[in-house]
Amino acid sequence: MEQWETELVEKVRALAHGPFADRAARIDREGSFPAENVAELKALGIPGMALPRSLGGLGVSVETQLRVTEEIAYGDGSTAVALNMHILIADFLSFLPPFPRRNAVLEDVARNSALICGPGSVPTGELDSRRAGYRMREDGDHLIVDGRAGFASMSEGATYVMIGATVDRGEGNEADVALALPRTSDAGLRILNNWDAMGMRGTASHDIVCEGLVVPKSEALVIPAALMKVLAQGQVGGLTQDRARGALGILAIWLGLAQAAFDLTVAYVRERHGYLATPDVGGAPVGFRAEEPWAQLGLGAMEHWLETGRAVLGDLVRRLDRPFPSPQQFTRAMVRTVYHLRRMGEEVAMGSMRVCGAHAYVRSRPLERVFRDLMGGNVMAWKTDQLLQTLGQGALGMPISIVGPAGT
Ligand SMILES: Cc1cc2nc3c(=O)[nH]c(=O)nc-3n(C[C@H](O)[C@H](O)[C@H](O)COP(=O)(O)OP(=O)(O)OC[C@H]3O[C@@H](n4cnc5c(N)ncnc54)[C@H](O)[C@@H]3O)c2cc1C
Repeated sequence: MEQWETELVEKVRALAHGPFADRAARIDREGSFPAENVAELKALGIPGMALPRSLGGLGVSVETQLRVTEEIAYGDGSTAVALNMHILIADFLSFLPPFPRRNAVLEDVARNSALICGPGSVPTGELDSRRAGYRMREDGDHLIVDGRAGFASMSEGATYVMIGATVDRGEGNEADVALALPRTSDAGLRILNNWDAMGMRGTASHDIVCEGLVVPKSEALVIPAALMKVLAQGQVGGLTQDRARGALGILAIWLGLAQAAFDLTVAYVRERHGYLATPDVGGAPVGFRAEEPWAQLGLGAMEHWLETGRAVLGDLVRRLDRPFPSPQQFTRAMVRTVYHLRRMGEEVAMGSMRVCGAHAYVRSRPLERVFRDLMGGNVMAWKTDQLLQTLGQGALGMPISIVGPAGT
């Protein structure tokens, strides 16, 4: 990291460990969007940090981006997830072939810290994907968008929405696929403000409904069905060495939250004395939990996962500097890293509750929220078993791929 990047991480760290951590309990309790945190990050140009300087972005290294994300997650997991979903989308757009709307949106992100959200999942509470998603139809020079999708993290802070939709080509014809980038304020687009998860409650991952939203054809990217098939077969959605930044951000979020869970657990065992309300009657003398061998062992296991997680992620980031010998070798390293960090999140979350017990799992203690955020961060990205199977296939020399955090 260069000096200015180190200073940027320090500034974000001061915000995350100070005001973000102070606000986190209220944001979680109310399920409200962390608007103040986001405004403070915008003032530092963080939404455009990953975009190149030629566009007006900060052009930070992958290492700096991940350190920034980890620090934010330490203070507030929701702010980190909302920001990272924006970064993932901006990253995705920057690898698309240029078209005027995409170029204008990326420039707004880079120069003005404008934010984007992407509702790509079925709506909250909906379990059938056949009832979800957006459809477009042609009307002269325009495309008309209808439909509903969900989990649009950052929606309350976003200026733009990335909409992926099918374009109806009439009976018997396969639908094309299109991408549009309307503004959140456009007529015909509504954010439903209905996010109500148990973890990551401040991400504003609301459903977004389109009802007759009008998009000029000149502002959309339409991919014909036949081309889409070829692209899908070539697994163009797979992560490659130059397109892993946003996905790695999720791992940094797990790391930041796991560090918070660890620190809170260490502080707890130092304070916690004895067991039940009844004083020690006839049993062995009780002391602080930090003196108990089983608690020390639990902390040791957590430290093992945390520090090996940090080392494994750091190792991959260093190796990104030079091309991997082959795309398959990159993919195997990526899957191994995601798997290890995911297991770390699972182990540290469970370890914190195993060591602390019910008295830490109460609303008044931050560990309870951090535990839920770690679970929220876990369910949102990749799948533990699938990663293992992919690793095995790679070891057998079978071709493997890894896609973005939303999975296959
Ligand atoms: C905080 C948060 C923010 C999010 N933000 C966004 C966003 O901005 N935009 C967006 O589009 N979406 C977002 N999502 C949604 C996210 O993309 C989905 O939650 C994710 O894709 C997983 O889908 P699912 O929840 O339906 O789980 P499922 O796909 O149903 O998976 C559930 C579990 O089933 C098992 N499983 C499923 N498939 C396999 C398999 N092939 N092999 C082995 N095990 C398997 C695993 O144990 C897995 O954890 C967000 C989610 C969360 C929690």
